[in-house]
Amino acid sequence: MSVEKRHPIPVKEAIHRVLQQDIYTEATQVSLYDCEGYILAEDIIATYDIPRFDKSPYDGFAIRSEDSQGASADNRVAFEVVDHIGAGSVSEKTLQQGQAVRIMTGAQMPAGADAVVMLEQTVETADGFTLRKPFERLENVSLKGEETATGDVVLHKGQRINAGAVAVLATFGYADVPVYRKPTAAIIATGSELLDVEDDLEPGKIRNSNGPMIAALLQKEGVEVERYHIQMDDYDSSLAVITSALEQHDMVITTGGVSVGDFDYLPDIYKVLGADVLFNKIAMRPGSVTTVAVAQGKYLFGLSGNPSACYSGFELFTKPAIYHMMGATCCYPAMIRATLMADFKKANPFTRFIRAHVTLTGREATVSPSGFNKSGAVVSIAHSNGMMMLPGGTRGYQVGHEVDVLLTSAELYQQELYL
Ligand code: AMP
Ligand code: MG
Repeated sequence: MSVEKRHPIPVKEAIHRVLQQDIYTEATQVSLYDCEGYILAEDIIATYDIPRFDKSPYDGFAIRSEDSQGASADNRVAFEVVDHIGAGSVSEKTLQQGQAVRIMTGAQMPAGADAVVMLEQTVETADGFTLRKPFERLENVSLKGEETATGDVVLHKGQRINAGAVAVLATFGYADVPVYRKPTAAIIATGSELLDVEDDLEPGKIRNSNGPMIAALLQKEGVEVERYHIQMDDYDSSLAVITSALEQHDMVITTGGVSVGDFDYLPDIYKVLGADVLFNKIAMRPGSVTTVAVAQGKYLFGLSGNPSACYSGFELFTKPAIYHMMGATCCYPAMIRATLMADFKKANPFTRFIRAHVTLTGREATVSPSGFNKSGAVVSIAHSNGMMMLPGGTRGYQVGHEVDVLLTSAELYQQELYL
């Protein structure tokens, strides 16, 4: 086995190559109650106006505004209440001069009425109420179509379905929702030193933490996962397992074995599979050997075995690829600027990604490493809600510098409530 020379490419170029692939899942339908987190496969077009009818936004009385003209504190105008409707009911009355209908929030305006008087603006009388101010036409009326008109595109193909989108889909009667299927993933941890979580420790061995970590990251995206047995560093069995995983899943995620060590067999396996290796060296730390390949129209993610590198590789390449496959318009994570609270004095030629904790104090964001941060670190991943990105080729970074942070967790929180 000859050791090939690898050429590092910039991180951005690597991500770009991953997202350039024509690898997509098909459109399908899922129940409205399961569609959160999916990507919409069609534009959703309003089939009727919202609101569907002129309605009252308050509990009060529907009146003809013209009847209230001239009203004042000294000249209260009286109305007779001729009907009483709640939301969901429609009055059969048409208002005549001086008449009003008691109306509740959300109820359709009765014929003839063009304004709503709030309950608090009235004084009750034997057969109705009086009021002390004139009302304008359409005052306190929610107008038919004021939010959305028939034919408007209310949700866009490629949009991720959030709770608000679920509400819109429910509004327009989508019991089943057109979405792109979520990919399925195989996770294969490779390494002869690896033990399962149930195993007792043995000399020279460590427990497989990458497999469960990647499974958790995929679970968060709602991706169905098959966890394969740990693979020893053995070419034949690894090839057999990866070949079979590739047949059964949309993507195969391996951890470990992508370096140039004597027992790193992934590069050879990509070769025999005839895979198109998009890159096998990235100008970043950790995880410079992270490899992404495509075989049989499917992604193979060769993540590093080092836990921090494995995690970064997933966030940088696998997660955007999942969204790309599902037809998402937005595939990239949020980046923010934050004030650095630690020194990184050592110059580094490669871009560094450091598991970090972003703190929001009021509107100020600060960022610190979330613990010991060598590529083999595990604990710091647990305390991170982002990754600092420190571009290479500078003379280092110091406390007070503004740096970019990629947000990895939506649960960014403030310890003190700032409202
Ligand atoms: P490799 O990428 O196979 O060269 O492994 C790099 C480092 O990561 C080694 O120290 C491995 O022992 C460690 N490692 C590999 N796979 C795992 C795993 N699944 N969980 C935790 N550590 C791992
Ligand atoms: Mg290994």
